[in-house]
Amino acid sequence: MIDIERLKRHHPIIKDISEQKEVVWVNPDKTTFEEAIQGQELTMADIDDAEARLKRFAPLIMDHFPETKPRNGIIESELVRIPAMQALINEQYDSELKGELLLKKDSHLAIAGSVKARGGIYEVLKHTEDLALENGLLTTEDIIGEGNPEAYRKLATPDAREFFKRFKVQVGSTGNLGMSIGIMSAAIGFTVIVHMSADAKQWKKDLLRNRGVQVIEYESDYSEAVKNGRALSDEDPRSYFVDDENSRTLFLGYAVAAKRLVGQLEELDIKVDEDHPLFVYIPCGVGGAPGGVTFGLKYMFGDNVHCFFVEPTNAACMLTGMASGLNSEISVQDLGLTGLTHADGLAVGRPSGFVGGVMKPHLSGEFTVKDGKLYDYMRDLLKSEDIFLEPSACASFQGPVRLNKATETKLYIATRGLSDKMGEATHIAWATGGSLVPEEMREEYKNTYLKD
Ligand SMILES: *Cc1c(COP(=O)(O)O)cnc(C)c1O
Repeated sequence: MIDIERLKRHHPIIKDISEQKEVVWVNPDKTTFEEAIQGQELTMADIDDAEARLKRFAPLIMDHFPETKPRNGIIESELVRIPAMQALINEQYDSELKGELLLKKDSHLAIAGSVKARGGIYEVLKHTEDLALENGLLTTEDIIGEGNPEAYRKLATPDAREFFKRFKVQVGSTGNLGMSIGIMSAAIGFTVIVHMSADAKQWKKDLLRNRGVQVIEYESDYSEAVKNGRALSDEDPRSYFVDDENSRTLFLGYAVAAKRLVGQLEELDIKVDEDHPLFVYIPCGVGGAPGGVTFGLKYMFGDNVHCFFVEPTNAACMLTGMASGLNSEISVQDLGLTGLTHADGLAVGRPSGFVGGVMKPHLSGEFTVKDGKLYDYMRDLLKSEDIFLEPSACASFQGPVRLNKATETKLYIATRGLSDKMGEATHIAWATGGSLVPEEMREEYKNTYLKD
């Protein structure tokens, strides 16, 4: 049993979290990049390997998903300046955000319409490659570097699909991960089962069923869906379980985003160096997506990038784990919170222990945000930039809104000698999802106003 009262005395922020207050937290365990990577399990070589694998599969992806043709089968999103949103934030919330605000539109990623198109699709492809290699559909020569495109294309033939149909892929999800794993697995030909928690939206279940995915619904939360999915999968030697809480593969799929961001920043003539700091704000659920992206960004920009996660006040699991030092040993339910949130993509009560460990020396800090503000930020972005994001993704704006206002982050900026460099800073709000949200849901979101 965790002594919660004692925990609150030692870590006042835990008390604030348990009272559902919005908080800002700076990570006391963050160290320099050089120090942080010592002894870490994953390295740059692993990110390079993941990037090369995605290149090998690009011809196959193009064949299955013609919408990826403009980028030659590489699933990547735009990075855009959002000056009107920045002006609105500064005016409406008195945020005093200097430098430049950009939006990373993973909300518009091909195939899955969310950041999950990175990790989820990558993991399905990795599993496909492993099976193909073990069973002679690919040779060891085919998979070197950027690979043999013709050999990968053959994985889409009826015979190959017949082969993959004999294997199962299963995953537990609050919605978006299930969509990315489900859509990609079904395209390859796998028999696929998605275990959906109560938070998952009906339209996501419908969309998957229409693609031949078996959806099992749970009345309980995400952890239960994962637990059941894992148990069912473990019973079946031909079944592969995508483990959102522990998967290194998912994590590396997300990390590839950082390598590609380097070129995108260059194209926009944006510098990142000692005098031009980069601040990135990413919504966090179980931690894999923001953790993977952050891990990659650290390898690209080292100490010049400052990464912050954002979580809903009712489901601030990563913050609870990191601030208490208990990592995945503690859940938000232990603090008396429900874990329920309108941000379905972030509705997770217990963080990934793996990600918490990796992030400990890298992460700059965290913001939490009330559900009501997600809808406000959503309307703000629509009004100022005419871009639609789902509520979960809008959590990212809590960063730019609060950074220059909160005592904790003001101190972070000052103690790192960044105060006079903020005019040259770049801020990226990582938009993690939204383009697949059906029109009637958008209307409902636009008209949702919460007191809190
Ligand atoms: C899944 C998801 C996240 C967070 O990713 P985790 O890996 O769960 O931390 C953020 N935003 C959206 C829209 C998501 O679907």
